[in-house]
Amino acid sequence: MPVSGLPPYDDGNIFARILRGEIPAKKVHEDDHALAFHDIAPQAPVHVLVIPKGRYVSVADFAAQASPEEIAGFWRAVAKVAKDLGLEEPGYRVLMNMGAHGGQEVPHYHVHLFGGRPLGRMVP
Ligand code: 5GP
Repeated sequence: MPVSGLPPYDDGNIFARILRGEIPAKKVHEDDHALAFHDIAPQAPVHVLVIPKGRYVSVADFAAQASPEEIAGFWRAVAKVAKDLGLEEPGYRVLMNMGAHGGQEVPHYHVHLFGGRPLGRMVP
């Protein structure tokens, strides 16, 4: 169950379908806890999405309900993908959108990994 106030998890969402292999994705990493693949509409030379394998709607849901192993495994995967893609130096950006005001479109928790050019300083 999602945390109170959040919508229930929808097994038909696009990332759930990618996880089940029903639609293709350009995968860059997969392990027990996470799947990483290129964004279909990249906003930087490197734009990868990293998603947990569990059924979490958002960061709030993930933080409240995922096990310590899932959370650690997920974030280790994020850092590994960045390193493997050669982004550690000179750096990269990790971003997550949450809910309507955060601009979240896909209701399966994910982080965006951006790199490959100077990204500038970003505040809303
Ligand atoms: P959000 O706004 O939910 O944080 O970001 C969702 C991201 O998913 C967007 O950057 C969008 O381009 C990406 N996206 C949406 N549909 C697909 C898809 O079918 N395949 C891939 N690889 N990315 C997608």
